[in-house]
Amino acid sequence: MNTQFFAAWIEEIATAVRARRDHLTQLDAAIGDADHGANLDRGFTAAQEALAGASPQTPGALLVLVGSTLIRKVGGASGPLYGTAFREMGKAFGEAAEISPAELSTGLNAALAGVQRLGAAAEGDKTMVDALAPAAEALAQAVRDGLKPEEALEAAAAAAEQGAGATIPLQARKGRASYLGPRSVGHEDPGAASTALLFGALKAAAS
Ligand code: ADP
Ligand code: MG
Ligand code: MG
Repeated sequence: MNTQFFAAWIEEIATAVRARRDHLTQLDAAIGDADHGANLDRGFTAAQEALAGASPQTPGALLVLVGSTLIRKVGGASGPLYGTAFREMGKAFGEAAEISPAELSTGLNAALAGVQRLGAAAEGDKTMVDALAPAAEALAQAVRDGLKPEEALEAAAAAAEQGAGATIPLQARKGRASYLGPRSVGHEDPGAASTALLFGALKAAAS
């Protein structure tokens, strides 16, 4: 997976976020402040513009630029959290021109660690971590099993999707939704839903 692959990933994300913007906002309307779709649309549109302007030469530089742009352009909780995730993944890639599935797995673990350092959410707290952690674990398992890259990304996307769906019966313990207490039960977490979308876009970039 080279710089072009990661650029394609960001394009896929921007397109998917635009298409699902209202859905993400509706999820956030139920247990938050109805801005998640707009936040991410603004952020990934800005990320596309930043990439077009700077043409970064390595996957690492590209992802660090995306992360920094998200931190700058997306307010609220998800901007710094997603921004940190992309920055940490980019930093883990260093100067490499080509990223193997094993390196992607390492990068994803770094992203997850960054999100948890910043947001202090554990799995089960009904946040993006509930999609990100199983996706990272599924990718690590796929690498151990020696799956082909497309199959590994397919497994990660499926795990993220399942993790997002599994937030529905949970009570939120972090972020804005936690203010609702038991009333947060019965709704999918918007950040977990958008994380599933990010992994769906990763799978799409590989096919
Ligand atoms: P805000 O809640 O500030 O309006 P967004 O609506 O863009 O920000 O993002 C909300 C999402 O951020 C939540 O659905 C949740 O997945 C995620 N989130 C909030 N707080 C945390 C946290 N401490 N750790 C991980 N993710 C979090
Ligand atoms: Mg919100
Ligand atoms: Mg907000």
